[in-house]
Amino acid sequence: MVPREIDTLAQDRRCVVTGAAGFIGGTLSRRLVLAGAHVIAVDRSPGLLHASGLDASAAELVVMDLLAGDLEGLLRDSDWVFHLAGRGGVSTSWGPGLGDYLADNVSTTGRVLEAAIAARESGHADPRIVYASSSSVYGHTEDEPVSETALLSPRSPYAITKAASEHLISAYAQAYGLNALSCRLFTVYGPGQREDMLISRLLRAWHDRRPVALHAGGAVARDLTFIDDAVEGLVLAAAYGHAGEAYNISAGISHDMNAVVRELSRQLGGSIPVRPVSIPPGVPFRTLADLTRAREQLGYRPNFCLAAGLAKQIAAGG
Ligand code: NAD
Repeated sequence: MVPREIDTLAQDRRCVVTGAAGFIGGTLSRRLVLAGAHVIAVDRSPGLLHASGLDASAAELVVMDLLAGDLEGLLRDSDWVFHLAGRGGVSTSWGPGLGDYLADNVSTTGRVLEAAIAARESGHADPRIVYASSSSVYGHTEDEPVSETALLSPRSPYAITKAASEHLISAYAQAYGLNALSCRLFTVYGPGQREDMLISRLLRAWHDRRPVALHAGGAVARDLTFIDDAVEGLVLAAAYGHAGEAYNISAGISHDMNAVVRELSRQLGGSIPVRPVSIPPGVPFRTLADLTRAREQLGYRPNFCLAAGLAKQIAAGG
């Protein structure tokens, strides 16, 4: 039987994590350290990187903007590269933010891939590259649950940058035989979730007694992925994924936001003030993943139901 535990898979691996000061990159880096991996944690934000809970004696903390730094040196001797650096959020990707989204979400991926080729040509490394893509690449899907073979129909500048990076990943895998693949993460939540994301905002609304905007009156539904499941999916993809492929990573269950508010209110013991607003342009109405490929090729199995995941986020204070 092939091992599926992060500790067995990651021990002694040399892992580069980009975006390591962020929500997912930070959690992944800390988990890899625990598993006995050698972690090179990279981010351009020095303040956040040093506040990420990563012990500098257990991981190498590298402050670097991926748009400018020496990536070939960074990838030297690496086994796995988790490319999580990027700019999230659909609404802020419209308008003047587009250039920043293109730079941080697409150009960084191109630079990571070019650095991997250079590292391989100089005989220093031939790493497995795992890219953090997003469910948003599917757009509004008619057929649910959505499988990886569905036509991509990104509906926002953010989603377009994630789809573009995915195409770069598969093009470099095909053209240069690079060992690179994408994980399509479905809305990730849990301790340390980004402040602009809904569950974080709902918890703040509860503490501040200030109403939070709820798209389409709470009818919007998401296949919500608890952070530990997302981390496990990324590591399994590094260990067992096929080059050039994409894998859905989620819980495999969709909940509308009214149900999320109800469950949070139940656990907090009071109601959360909400304010219905219309759904902004480019935000998908509903997401739900077909996990067959991740199950069969990676052995991925989500462990957390919504109630358990929310309880952990509440206990962590956001
Ligand atoms: P985050 O904003 O918490 O972390 C991203 C990190 O990347 C930040 O610390 C930022 O400083 C860093 N970064 C951005 N551009 C950089 C650059 N040019 N050089 C160096 N560092 C740079 O985001 P997150 O929620 O942890 O998401 C991580 C990745 O996963 C992103 O690529 C995002 O698109 C993707 N993703 C996230 C979710 C989710 O639900 N959070 C869902 C799907 C995909």
